[in-house]
This record gives sequence, C-alpha cells and structure tokens, in this order.
Amino acid sequence: MLNTDFTGKTKVYGVIGDPIAHTFSPEIHNSIFKAIGKNAVYTPFHVTPKGLPAAIKGASALGIGGLNVTLPHKINVIPLLTSLDKEAALIGAVNTIKFSEGEIIGFNTDIIGVEYTFKMRGLSLNDRTCLLLGAGGAADAVICALLKAKAKKIYIANRTVEKAKALKERLSPLFESEIIPLSLASAAELKGIDTVLNTTTLGFEGKTDLTPLPKAFFKNNSVEICFDAIYTPWQTRLLKEAEQSGASCINGFDMLIYQGAAAEEIWQNTKFDKEFLKSLSLNLKEFYKKRKE
Ligand code: NAP
Repeated sequence: MLNTDFTGKTKVYGVIGDPIAHTFSPEIHNSIFKAIGKNAVYTPFHVTPKGLPAAIKGASALGIGGLNVTLPHKINVIPLLTSLDKEAALIGAVNTIKFSEGEIIGFNTDIIGVEYTFKMRGLSLNDRTCLLLGAGGAADAVICALLKAKAKKIYIANRTVEKAKALKERLSPLFESEIIPLSLASAAELKGIDTVLNTTTLGFEGKTDLTPLPKAFFKNNSVEICFDAIYTPWQTRLLKEAEQSGASCINGFDMLIYQGAAAEEIWQNTKFDKEFLKSLSLNLKEFYKKRKE
C-alpha cells in the first residue's frame, strides 16, 4: 500500500514515553493537522529512560517540530532542554517540547488543559472553596489552574499527607489563595466545599468500585462542580454520586484534548477559537468511545 499523504515537506511531531502504545495523542494531533490543513504527521516513540538524552538530541537533529513528553520523562527531560517556559518551571515538569532553530524549549500545557476545560463551559474557578483530592502530577496542574484563577481556599487531601504539604510549601509563596493540606481520610469531614477536583487514581479502570470521598460528603456540602481527571471509565463512581446530588460533573477527557490543542498552539504559533476546540472535543469523544467499544 502506498500512502501518498506524506511528502518531502511533511513535518514530523510525536510523543515520547515508556510505555507509549496506548496513547490517544496521535488521534488528537493528527485530527488537528487534518482540520487546519497542515502537512504534518504525529506518531508515538517508545523511549526508555536510558535512551532519553539521545532521543532529544536526535529529534532536534532530525528537524522534528515538536514532541509531547509523558511518563516517566516529564521531569528528567528538563536538564536536556535549552530553556523552560514559565508554567513548566512553576510545575517542575514538561509535557511539550518545541524545537526551533537549535533551541529545545520545554512547556507544560496541562495547566492550560484544565483552564480550557472550565472556560469552555463558562465556569470560573475564581473565589471558590475547593477540595483537591490527590497530590501527584495531575494535582500539580489542577492546583496551578486554581491558584491562577484566584480560588479562595484550596484543601489538598492526599493519602500521603506529606506530599500535600510539599505542594503547599512550593506554591503558597507565589499565590494569594489559602492552601490547607490534610489527609484523604479527614477530607470526608469537610464542610462548605463548592468545588471538588479528583486527581487520585481511585475510580480508574481496574479500581472502578473505589471513590476518594464517601457519598455522604455530597449531602453535607453544596457542591456545584465536581471534576475528575479520570476519563476511563467515562463516569467514575465519584462523578455519579456528585451528579446525584445535583453537581455539574466534568470528566478528564477535555483536559486531555485541550492540553494537546495547547501544544499545537505552541508548535503552530496560533490560537484556536472556542468553536474549533468544541468541535475537536466532540469529534474525538465519538472516536474515543468507538475505540473503547
Ligand atoms: P500520580 O502522580 O501517580 O498520583 C497518583 C495520586 O493518586 C496520588 O495522589 C496518590 O496518593 C493517589 N493514590 C493512588 N492510589 C491510591 C489509593 N489506593 N488510595 C488513595 N490515594 C491513592 O498520578 P497522576 O499522573 O497524578 O494521575 C492521577 C490520575 O489522573 C490518573 O487516574 C490519571 O489517569 C489521571 N490523569 C488525567 C489526565 C488528563 O489529561 N485527564 C492527565 C494526567 C493524569 P499518594 O501520594 O498517597 O500515593
């Protein structure tokens, strides 16, 4: 079979990770290339930790336009870059690299992914009293979005409470919002929370019967928004129970799509409008659901 879509002018982009076979990123980026009429291709590259320095140097030498970076390379890639943008420095992790005239620049679009998720629904995070569940990589992006939006108060509840404390110590000198670390067990007793954001793996595929909060929490709090970074399953037990209590529920699919769209905005030096982002998410949702069936 001859694929005539690719020519001598085709620009190459990709994602590096270990493992990488199950990534959804090629679907996101190749859909965007098609929609904007860009002669480009996006492909996964399996890169081990040992191979990371050679992969970055090689990608630069090959004239690759950009790479997304996923586990386990998001932090270890930083010393291999020539510069780091503001948000990647804030979060201390890189998910997007732009190669430009010998420069290798690191970005983090996970924060934008969270911001777009709420903005696209007309929801503001400003002045909210939030409960953030989890203190790992996804929590880092979510808390930065909350802090940038000037949330009023952010409780960070984590099984390992030291990690929640470390997040507070790193970020509270830079922002105005009040940050209160606590254990996951004691989060169940909180009152006055209007926004819940889950970034723990509880509820994820293989743990679908689990949830980070008891159902009674939603009886004791008037939760308006419940976000779960998980999108497999599409609706976690947490989201189901929050929805039953009347909260607006959002899963992590748009965070995934919009962090990808934000990487394209960096690579293609463009800005997508709301309509474009909305239809991208809708089309990819259909595609993702079919792939899962
Ligand atoms: P991570 O860095 O490994 O953090 C995992 C978090 O889950 C930690 O807070 C951890 O607590 C907690 N956790 C794990 N097992 C637990 C248990 N049995 N009981 C209580 N807490 C537990 O992972 P991550 O990268 O942040 O990812 C977290 C979730 O977000 C995953 O489900 C992932 O699929 C999702 N995610 C979604 C997106 C998106 O674009 N939508 C992006 C990234 C991640 P400890 O600190 O105590 O271990």
